[in-house]
Amino acid sequence: MDAIESLIEGYRAFRSGTYSQNVERYRELGEKVQKPKALIIACCDSRADPAMVFSADPGELFVVRNVANLVPPYEPDTHYHGTSAAIEFGIEGLGIQDLIVMGHARCGGINALYESTKGNPPKGDFVSGWMSLVKNVADDVQKTHAHLDPAQMVRMMEMRAVVSSLEQLRTFPFIREREADGRLRLHGWFYGIATGLLSIYDPKTDRFSELE
Ligand SMILES: [Zn+2]
Repeated sequence: MDAIESLIEGYRAFRSGTYSQNVERYRELGEKVQKPKALIIACCDSRADPAMVFSADPGELFVVRNVANLVPPYEPDTHYHGTSAAIEFGIEGLGIQDLIVMGHARCGGINALYESTKGNPPKGDFVSGWMSLVKNVADDVQKTHAHLDPAQMVRMMEMRAVVSSLEQLRTFPFIREREADGRLRLHGWFYGIATGLLSIYDPKTDRFSELE
C-alpha cells in the first residue's frame, strides 16, 4: 500500500471507529472555542508525537512542531515567525497555563547541528540557519563534555537544547510576566523514543530525570 492509500484507509477507520463512537464530542469540539490544557513545543519527528505520548484526545493539546523543538528569541520584526505566532496565540489568546518544551532522542536536527560542528553542515537552504539558534549549546557541550562519545554528546545537546529553548521563552515579555505572577508554568521534558520513557528537567539540579 502506498502512503496516500494508507492515509485514506486510516481516515476511513477513523470515520467508522473513533469518530462515529464520539459524534457528540466532536460536534461540541467543532462548535465551541478550543480550551487546550497545555501548549507543547515538539519536534516534527514522526516518532515523537505528543498526542500519542500523552494519550491525548482532540482539544487537549495545543502543539507547535518544528525541527528540533526550538524556540527563537523574541524578535517582533517583519520576518515570518511561525513558532512565535503560535506561542503568542496559545498563551495570550487561549490563556494556556502550562507550556512544555519536549525534546526527544535521536533528533535529526540536533544531529545535523553536531555534524556541523565537525565540518559537515546539512545541505539545503533552511535547516542549517534554523539550527544555528542553538549553536551556543553545541559549543558549550563540546567544551564542558569533551570526554563523551559522539552518541552521548548528541544526547547531551538534545537535552541542553530543551533548556536553551526554555531560556528563549523567557525573552518573550508576556511569558516572563505570566511566569512571574504565577499564571504560567514552563516545563522541559525529554522523550526517549526507543524506551518510551519521559524525563523531566529540574531547574534546581539543572538535570533531567526519568519519571517514576
Ligand atoms: Zn527532532
